[in-house]
Amino acid sequence: SGDWRGRAVCVAGLGVSGQAAARVLAERGARVTVVEARDDDALRERSERLRADARVTVRLGDGDTLPAGTDLVVTSPGWRPDVPLLAAAAAAGIEIIGEVELAWRLAHGGRGGREAAPWLALTGTNGKTTVVRMLACMLTAAGHRAVAVGNVGAPIVEAVLDRYDVLAVELSSYQLHWSSTVAPRAAAVLNVAPDHIDWHGSFDAYAADKGKIYAPGTIAVVNADDPVSTRLGGPDAKGFTLGTPAPGQLGVVEDLLVDRAFTPDPRREAVELAELADVRPFAPHNVANALAAAALARAYGVPPEAVRDGLRAFAPDPHRIAHVATVDGVDYVDDSKATNPHAAAASLSACRSAVWIAGGLLKGADVDDLVRACADRLRGVVLLGADRARIARSLARHAPEVPVVDVPDTDTGAMDRVVSAAAGLARPGDTVLLAPAGASFDMFASYGARGDAFAAAVRRLAESR
Ligand code: ADP
Repeated sequence: SGDWRGRAVCVAGLGVSGQAAARVLAERGARVTVVEARDDDALRERSERLRADARVTVRLGDGDTLPAGTDLVVTSPGWRPDVPLLAAAAAAGIEIIGEVELAWRLAHGGRGGREAAPWLALTGTNGKTTVVRMLACMLTAAGHRAVAVGNVGAPIVEAVLDRYDVLAVELSSYQLHWSSTVAPRAAAVLNVAPDHIDWHGSFDAYAADKGKIYAPGTIAVVNADDPVSTRLGGPDAKGFTLGTPAPGQLGVVEDLLVDRAFTPDPRREAVELAELADVRPFAPHNVANALAAAALARAYGVPPEAVRDGLRAFAPDPHRIAHVATVDGVDYVDDSKATNPHAAAASLSACRSAVWIAGGLLKGADVDDLVRACADRLRGVVLLGADRARIARSLARHAPEVPVVDVPDTDTGAMDRVVSAAAGLARPGDTVLLAPAGASFDMFASYGARGDAFAAAVRRLAESR
């Protein structure tokens, strides 16, 4: 796979990763055609640049037809396997890979000389970005040249060609679906809960794609508190748990994170890694994230002090349990990144008493488990967005005594009405939590825009007091 000269590669999708893939392949002598269903001014400008400096052919406005003579397709993660172009390639026996597989082959396929940097990889329904960043902080604290890649930071096809000692790699289930030879040094499935079922076809198919992260020879790290992760990792996996760790696990003892999995001296009970207070923001699921990052770091030989220093250096990304303001004794928290029920359940369970703001696109997921698990901590619920009726029905069934305010509006003032309804339900000491359990695209450009709209509405509320 080291020789790309003369290969006819179709890159599906002119996004950030598609552009990067096209450039790298063209530089290596492949004949590249990028196809993109959309066609607008921004895309034209982008394709002009690609044509000019990388000799890449770009076809805009037709994402369906496979270019004649294609012998490999590099697809973007957003493309479903059943779209016409990918279905045609599959039917013709043409190999389809994703950007991650391409990156692996570029780095590990016959470069000669320098040894490629190993990957410490992770996937999961929730927590990927947090864990990959924590891990990069730990590796850096240990003095390694390391970077977080995947959905974060630079395109992975570029990062693998830079001079890093080790890569912290976040992999989505889509990217794993289109991977076949990727073999991380160590890998973790953080958790598996229903999400993206419409893309994968079924929960089992989704879980199976996540399980592909464990290649032969990979040190498997599993979440011992998550049955699906545990099953995917197999019998030899190292585990992490929020409870007291058994031998072979990392876990929590009193107020410490400890390691009983990668302890070099078997006579020692456990190695202390960090204090619970080093985990920010403090929430049970985030302790699990810290343990997962620690496990991957320890699998690579990172010493305990660097695990602790890395955790202390870590700063959470925006819209992940971000405290916005305290108004009339009520905390307003933006967890707009909670785009599925599993994530929303995690942040709700970190609150004593919450007014929960929920809604958006559920992507086929079910909220019954979440509502049942969190009913006793709900002061009230405010619903917005496309699938709010579905959440309302679940609340009526499993939490009939909890007051619910429905905000049907989709105009720009909708978030002000949502926040003022939430303020009306909340009592001092409560948390008003935006953890929608759904994607944002019904009303907003992104989860970030949704979180910003919430924060702006909270600030207007604060000013009005
Ligand atoms: P991802 O990259 O997988 O989307 P993030 O780290 O961005 O993960 O977190 C997304 C959301 O998931 C957060 O807003 C938080 O509510 C929730 N979350 C984070 N870690 C976990 C976890 N370990 N278990 C459940 N939910 C989590």
